[in-house]
Amino acid sequence: MADEFDVVVIGAGPAGYVAAIRCAQLGMSTACIDDRTDKQGKPSPGGTCLNVGCIPSKALLDSAEHYHHLNHEFAAHGIRVTGASIDVATMMARKDKIVSTLTGGIDQLFKANKITYLHGRGRLLPGNEIEVTAGEDTRRVRAINVIIASGSMPIDISVAPLDHDLIIDSTGALELEEVPRRLGVIGAGVIGLEMGSVWRRLGAEVTLLEAMDDFLPAADPNIARDALKQFKAQGLNIKLGCTVTRSEISGRKVNVWYKDKNGEQQIEVDRLIVSVGRKPNTDDIADDLVGLAKNERGFIEIDDQWRTNVPNVYAVGDAVRGAMLAHKGSEEGVAVAEFISGNYAHVNYDVIPWVVYTLPEIAWAGKTEQQLKDEDVPYRTGAFPFAATGRARAMEQPVGQVRIIAHERSDKVLGVHIVGPYASELIAEAVVAMEMQATSEDIARIVHAHPTLSEAMHEAALAVDKRAIHKAN
Ligand code: FAD
Ligand code: NAD
Repeated sequence: MADEFDVVVIGAGPAGYVAAIRCAQLGMSTACIDDRTDKQGKPSPGGTCLNVGCIPSKALLDSAEHYHHLNHEFAAHGIRVTGASIDVATMMARKDKIVSTLTGGIDQLFKANKITYLHGRGRLLPGNEIEVTAGEDTRRVRAINVIIASGSMPIDISVAPLDHDLIIDSTGALELEEVPRRLGVIGAGVIGLEMGSVWRRLGAEVTLLEAMDDFLPAADPNIARDALKQFKAQGLNIKLGCTVTRSEISGRKVNVWYKDKNGEQQIEVDRLIVSVGRKPNTDDIADDLVGLAKNERGFIEIDDQWRTNVPNVYAVGDAVRGAMLAHKGSEEGVAVAEFISGNYAHVNYDVIPWVVYTLPEIAWAGKTEQQLKDEDVPYRTGAFPFAATGRARAMEQPVGQVRIIAHERSDKVLGVHIVGPYASELIAEAVVAMEMQATSEDIARIVHAHPTLSEAMHEAALAVDKRAIHKAN
């Protein structure tokens, strides 16, 4: 007789583990199945995000940022350092410790919430039974409700097949044992920029080959232009409009051939990261007899209440449509738990913050000007450079800007776009404002502490009405 639960969640990433915790809080008997292990083979909940995504990448970005400041900015403060060097093994050990602390924390939360954590690969069978396979062992559990939160995996491309040594994906890029002298990156998206930044700051020559002609097309073009200028100044060699045609490993080198507007080109690098997007992890998530509907790209089809076409089976996170972001998945996890227990459930997909943790950071929420133009929505913009704030000057980071887009008539804030220091933290004010349906006038009337970076947000709001104080309007 299979164990029975009110809810079984497949996947313990930020969508799945959060869904499981909220289900348990709401009084439902809950199990969470996950197949991930750490390097020692121990079950390791937390999904891509905690194990090989958000957290380890930010740990390395922070280490590399300290090294960058030490080499390039401390001198301006009068701090002279000689003989600085990077010990990659220590940097990696710090990152691994952070990961194991946090994944261990999920384990604790499962225990505290009386969630049954089943290690193994889950596969949905007809009648809401789930087969859980771990090595040779197979068991079955049954659930009234199933939440699929199986996440995503890197897309691979035939022109640069991974050997997981010289040609690697984002997981490999988090595990390098030394700073490569020359690093190639295919794809100048979020992962390419973040991982390229880590290794560039540590001294690698980094070349990014991006297929699109536009840089970071999802971001506001003014912000993307500003960021591109900064990245180029840091020595990130970003080549746009490149079609990679083939790659070849010879000895300990990787040769990459690509075409751009000038014709056929070639680079030789010591390591090559392939970061061309991610695809849903849904290939074998359900037996064919279940008839789970997926779209042509493998994303599980869901309605507005995260319901799949199979009764009492829901799906959330990277496995379904929308931004592939941890916080988007977590909010869906909470919402689906509320929905299952009969409560009101809602996620505002219009205000999901995006952050790219480069130097400077890039962050945005809401619409870009281009989207508003396409939708024929009249708007006004206000921009303010960090260089005109005392705090950014004091920090020796006077780069970037805040741009606020507000409706021309109602003045409601429709989008906020930031490139600059701590953009990742500043965007929170914009998200609160937009969630509260605030106008740019509302932000302009809020007292912002001085001297802070948030004054750039205040001044950008004033600039919408052409009354910024610390710049000519
Ligand atoms: P996942 O985190 O992928 O978790 C799904 C889990 O389910 C995995 O552990 C998987 O092994 C398991 N699983 C899959 N199928 C089965 C099965 N059949 N049985 C059992 N278990 C199964 N997002 C951000 O918001 N901020 C960031 O800074 C950020 N940085 C990132 C950096 C990198 C390098 C990468 C790769 C991603 C980053 N992301 C970031 C994206 C973020 O990691 C994902 O959006 C997020 O992890 C998705 O959560 P999820 O729960 O849907 O899936
Ligand atoms: P991405 O979609 O951000 O970027 C992929 C880039 O590769 C795009 O610019 C695309 O045009 C380019 N590309 C695609 N095929 C190519 C090819 N054959 N040759 C050259 N360029 C090619 O994807 P990613 O960087 O792999 O990251 C995957 C997802 O993970 C992100 O979209 C994001 O949702 C998530 N993520 C988020 C964060 C964050 O929030 N800070 C960080 C890392 C990853």
